[in-house]
Amino acid sequence: MQLNYIANTAVPSATGLTLPVVDPSYGQPFDELQRSDARDIDAAVQAAHTCFKGPWASLSAVERGRLLMRLSQRVAQCTDELAALEQRDCGKPTTQARADATALARYFEFYAGACDKLTGQTLPYQNGYTVLTWREPHGVTGHIIPWNYPMQIFGRSVGGALAAGNVCVVKPSEDACLSLLRVAALAAEVGFPPGAINIVTGLGHEVGDALARHPGIDHISFTGSPNVGTLIAQVAAQRHCPVTLELGGKSPQIIFADADLDAAVPVVINAIVQNAGQTCSAGSRVLIEQPIYEPLLQRLGEAFSRLRVGPAAMNLDVGPLIRASQQQRVWDFLSDAQVAGIPMVAQGQVVDEAPQGGYYQAPTLLRDVPSAHRLAQDEVFGPVLSAMAFEGEDHAVELANATRFGLVAGIWTRDGGRQLRMARRVQSGQVFINNYGAGGGVELPFGGVKSSGHGREKGFEALYGFTSLKTVAIRHG
Ligand code: NAD
Repeated sequence: MQLNYIANTAVPSATGLTLPVVDPSYGQPFDELQRSDARDIDAAVQAAHTCFKGPWASLSAVERGRLLMRLSQRVAQCTDELAALEQRDCGKPTTQARADATALARYFEFYAGACDKLTGQTLPYQNGYTVLTWREPHGVTGHIIPWNYPMQIFGRSVGGALAAGNVCVVKPSEDACLSLLRVAALAAEVGFPPGAINIVTGLGHEVGDALARHPGIDHISFTGSPNVGTLIAQVAAQRHCPVTLELGGKSPQIIFADADLDAAVPVVINAIVQNAGQTCSAGSRVLIEQPIYEPLLQRLGEAFSRLRVGPAAMNLDVGPLIRASQQQRVWDFLSDAQVAGIPMVAQGQVVDEAPQGGYYQAPTLLRDVPSAHRLAQDEVFGPVLSAMAFEGEDHAVELANATRFGLVAGIWTRDGGRQLRMARRVQSGQVFINNYGAGGGVELPFGGVKSSGHGREKGFEALYGFTSLKTVAIRHG
């Protein structure tokens, strides 16, 4: 039985209720977690405030950095254990689960080093004045985390918030809590004071909503779907609480005829099948210049049909989806494609060993997807790639920007001028030229434009969002 983690103590919820923890590879429950409510959030916020005013305030920036570095090292020692938890909880193939645990350690390492480098400025002003700016923590930051990359998103969000001097109350997804509860215990082990990291589990509309509404939460970092992001922003606006929103995407991979296709093909495939396509920055649309449309589709199709899907522990190309409703969502998109007459180029194979109850979906490549169709507009959040042809740069830009999202774009061309023109014209928070995702990019600011959200996480830039700027004007004559 999993318990909440408040003030360095594992505690049951005030509700006495639990939720099942289901293994997506089998569709079977194997554990339980707390179905908390507003009372548990309140307890976590109280613990965080006590910590913020007490032991946390007494730490210098360099001491905070050392704590984060110790946590990074402890997480690295526990890579196997954390990866195994995440694998069973979220259905991640071993390679992905280990990569996520490694990234978590790396986030803490990066933010450990950043703690004592966050500085203000001295501003030129009228004679007789000295004007300073200080970056101050918000206080207690609330973190609402989705199920697709719990460790990575916890690392970037909580790591940045702690580095900037905040303390945290975290609401993981009800589908992905196990690794984060363990990380909170590891933080206590390495010396984080009680209340610095608190985790309360439960359902979004119950405990997530209570977190967003709590007057003791001074900043909210939300990663999840656009619909829930809108709800959070509305709730937070009522008390003018600052919010960072990391929402979804419908990210294009734009491939010009002069591109290095040998380099592009494996990256384009990985960008849609990694984590079974359940990635906010998945390259879910491939825009291909007309002269290479047919030959490239053929190559992509051959690669798709070789992809194998199975239980997480088999460590194949693709694991299961997170839950039955996600599987149904992907099926709905594919049946819409069939009704609209959108041709399927190729599908991967679910292996015979895949257990009956698991949530498996073969990766699917579709072609000639009309730009207005929901397959080209909405997140499937599954391993489904929509291909469409374009003619020339203007058309590529028009298609790339024709969704409400703007998270990431990939541009594949050998032409240097075109690389820069395209990078300027696509509407997205990140642009990758002749690569995609850049290996995770802990150091690289990440976030969206349009309905992909606002604010930035990752990198040093995130620290500005986790602080508020105070201007101090001293008149000394
Ligand atoms: P979701 O929006 O359903 O849930 C995200 C979190 O919000 C969960 O912890 C959930 O319990 C909570 N929640 C749900 N309803 C709530 C409410 N009314 N009030 C407060 N909290 C609530 O998203 P999901 O299905 O867990 O994750 C998938 C989505 O997340 C996709 O849209 C994906 O693109 C997005 N995502 C974005 C990024 C990014 O950085 N841009 C990263 C990962 C995932």
